[in-house]
Amino acid sequence: MIAVTVIKCLSDNYSYIIADKDTGTVGVIDPSEFEPIDIEIDKNYKKLDFILNTHHHGDHVGGNLELKKKYGSKVVCSKYGKNQIPGADIKKGDGEIFLLGKTKFEIIHIPGHTLDHISFFSKNSKIIFTGDTLFSLGCGRIFEGTLKQMFDSLEKIKKIPKNTMIYCGHEYTLSNGNFCLSIDKENIILKKRIKEIKDKLNKNLPTIPVSLADEIETNIFLRCDNKKIKNSLDMNNSSKLEVFSKLRKLKDEF
Ligand code: ZN
Ligand code: FE
Repeated sequence: MIAVTVIKCLSDNYSYIIADKDTGTVGVIDPSEFEPIDIEIDKNYKKLDFILNTHHHGDHVGGNLELKKKYGSKVVCSKYGKNQIPGADIKKGDGEIFLLGKTKFEIIHIPGHTLDHISFFSKNSKIIFTGDTLFSLGCGRIFEGTLKQMFDSLEKIKKIPKNTMIYCGHEYTLSNGNFCLSIDKENIILKKRIKEIKDKLNKNLPTIPVSLADEIETNIFLRCDNKKIKNSLDMNNSSKLEVFSKLRKLKDEF
């Protein structure tokens, strides 16, 4: 059994404290900064065994060194990229396993936003940490990789079980949802989700996690073969990758 605690960091980042209940092993996903993580660890756990990073951007690794220094944590990260993760100890590649106590995480390499980007997927716990690759109702900007890499990475995530809960790196859900709705105008499920999202944000609650099943029905970046979406872009005869590339471009300008 694993417990996930959402920690708000910086202006719109999410870090996650993950605790394996059977063994008491504690980790943090993408500590943006030291203090909010330290407060939660000090209050509830008193230790931090592992720091897990999805990619090298500062808003995902900012707390690494200070947390490592205070708690003696081991830093688990991607074996891809150019050694940009502060304090890296254990480097993992696609398909490799990381054990948080008894909770098994599979590493899935999902380049596009950055070349080193990985996700941590626990099939048994039905959770995945997708960093800045798959957001709720969106996907990350392409900084280092190609459109094709980002598209393939999203396709990889689409193949995991649909009841998996997605934990991403930022609270971008509402603005992402507004973009989805500007293209996928008649999607009733999307409209319902946007209402729920607004309710949560009004209560100052995170809109994360969300199930992969819900994302597949509402996130246009996962719906590039949908007839209505293709039609609204005037791209009825285009490939999924062409539709994805167009959507990513439109989102950059949204
Ligand atoms: Zn990033
Ligand atoms: Fe980020």
